[in-house]
Amino acid sequence: MLDDAGLRALREAARLSPENLPLRQHLAGQLLAMGYLAEAEAEYRAALVLAPKNADITAGLAEAFVRQSAYGAALAALEPLLASPGYPPKLGVLAARALLAEGDTARAAHRYHDAVSRDPSVGDADLAARLSAPPVPASPYPAPAPAPAYPAAESVPASPYPAPAPAPAPAYVAAGSAPAYPAHPTYPAHPAPTPAPAYPAAGSPPPDGAEVERAGLSFADVAGMEAVKEALRIKLLLPLQQPELFAAYGKRAGGGVLLYGPPGAGKTHLARAAAGELGAAFVNVGLADILDMYIGSSERNLRATFEMARRNRPCVLFFDEVDALAARRSDMRQAHTRQLVNQFLAELDGVDQKANEGVLVLAATNAPWYVDVAFRRPGRLDQPVFVPPPDAAARAAILRILCRDKPLAEMDFDAVARATEHCVGADLKGVVDRAVEAKLQQSIRAGRPIPLSTPDLLAAAQTVRPTAVREWMSTARNYVMHANDSGAWDELMPWVKRKW
Ligand code: ADP
Repeated sequence: MLDDAGLRALREAARLSPENLPLRQHLAGQLLAMGYLAEAEAEYRAALVLAPKNADITAGLAEAFVRQSAYGAALAALEPLLASPGYPPKLGVLAARALLAEGDTARAAHRYHDAVSRDPSVGDADLAARLSAPPVPASPYPAPAPAPAYPAAESVPASPYPAPAPAPAPAYVAAGSAPAYPAHPTYPAHPAPTPAPAYPAAGSPPPDGAEVERAGLSFADVAGMEAVKEALRIKLLLPLQQPELFAAYGKRAGGGVLLYGPPGAGKTHLARAAAGELGAAFVNVGLADILDMYIGSSERNLRATFEMARRNRPCVLFFDEVDALAARRSDMRQAHTRQLVNQFLAELDGVDQKANEGVLVLAATNAPWYVDVAFRRPGRLDQPVFVPPPDAAARAAILRILCRDKPLAEMDFDAVARATEHCVGADLKGVVDRAVEAKLQQSIRAGRPIPLSTPDLLAAAQTVRPTAVREWMSTARNYVMHANDSGAWDELMPWVKRKW
């Protein structure tokens, strides 16, 4: 793989010879291999403009999408090529990955087995195993938010290049990972095009009445993030607490805030705490709870969810991974999903002035660049708030909160904070959980509770490998540097300039 200087030289060469297809393709491949996914995507798009039918380039683009969890975009890129009967089998495997991530196991299995039956060398044991795992039952509410479907290529603002008409060719199957297609009991070599939804039946009841939480948290339970908390106080809490004052200036309580930042940095935690701070109900909506393969069901689910929030006002309605929904608007693969997004926007706008009074919509995303601009219009999720990774002081404070109900020796949380650079809240929770588990075993052996100590946390910290922030910053850097004409990502500028 290239080092940084090599990559710089390659970028410069491509910049000087923008029409040199092999060079651009090489650069794109290097970027992909090095994990600069958004930039790889932009390069592949540019290359596709030069060679619209090139299968390898399309495959590279699709892989860049898949690795950014932009499954809808990957499928949109692959689809034109998959439509022809002689499509390169490796493309089918790539599509299977995206379909599986979207929860469409049946189509994923069909794609995979069709591809492998034509060319066993493209098989992927890991994927085959995941396809054969029993489908996750369609969960009602508290399910962890599932693999999102993302934007069609055209809606991805990342690249300065026009969205190309894609063409395929594979890339995704990890080299060497492909033993011949293991005959799978569940999926015979030539499966009939199965439907077989892991989805609720069309007539299943909407997720109404479920999971209205009373959050036992407040901002005191959120360590650090003072600027973020202050922003939420001004944007959400004060209008609700002092409506008269805001009315005097022609402002209404309501509307929404889009929380964005690296995964695990505390967006959900913060939303829950905001609800508690307000004494409001909290409704946590994973998009899996809403999206449904049957036309009309998703709309019903969405309406029911908003109605539930309105019945429980004041209420914080939290949509996690909102980019999955936002992206669908331009996803032409399924016209009805556009309808769903339009309905989401209509619900956000409220049928009348008072419809959403006392309903605060918080949405979270790790990929704000995929959120359709329509979502960010005034009165909708018009207030993006960056939830940053914690600095050392914030990490120490998070650790203190996470440990506060445990038997503790004298603790040096600052030392642990220093040893957990680049860790986000979720990583720190992992550190504490791991240390507690080890301590519990010791205590069981000793027959008495042994308090948790600094060395325990330091030992557990050694075992975590925080990579999410670095990757996230690297993607963000590409958007800040290359797709920030509107200034939407200005807030990120000082963050992405740091070394991560
Ligand atoms: P995100 O929604 O950004 O992916 P979460 O809110 O799920 O992240 O954070 C994961 C966990 O990390 C939370 O459940 C919480 O225990 C912990 N956590 C994250 N940030 C903080 C914080 N600032 N203070 C206290 N705990 C935090």
